[in-house]
Amino acid sequence: MTSEPASTGGEGAGAADAGAGASFAVEADAVVFGSPATQVRARIRRRPRSWRMTGAARWMAIFLVVAPLVAVVPPHAPWLIGALVVGGILARRRWTERFTLEAVGGRCPKCDARLTVKAGRLRVPHAVPCEACHHEVSIRVPEAALGGDDEPSGDPGASLP
Ligand SMILES: [Zn+2]
Repeated sequence: MTSEPASTGGEGAGAADAGAGASFAVEADAVVFGSPATQVRARIRRRPRSWRMTGAARWMAIFLVVAPLVAVVPPHAPWLIGALVVGGILARRRWTERFTLEAVGGRCPKCDARLTVKAGRLRVPHAVPCEACHHEVSIRVPEAALGGDDEPSGDPGASLP
């Protein structure tokens, strides 16, 4: 089951996602230790290189502005370095956000409550705290569903200190 144009039921009509990437839904396993896994549906947005590059550049730009400002405060060097490191980390995080998990439709394997996620970088597995029973639900999106990444694995962000 790959990316078939899932019935465009008016969903996202006119959504201006220029450059933000296309979203798609996949079946994933929701797992809690000690309970049988359930099937959930995950909405994932594929982030194109341009979007990640822009976001990473924005973080670096912000911290390049912030760094000299905080460096006014003694002892100067640690603040400067700290700001640059934080900027680098945030930029790198954005750069590596190949997929964003936007929503999960499904129930907690433990207590059957509806699962909700905050949109954010997709991890495999992706941990989602259940608000009802406070168990940590592990959402496992099959790698195959994410496949077809057309980019080389080279990572320009890896040159950070
Ligand atoms: Zn639960």
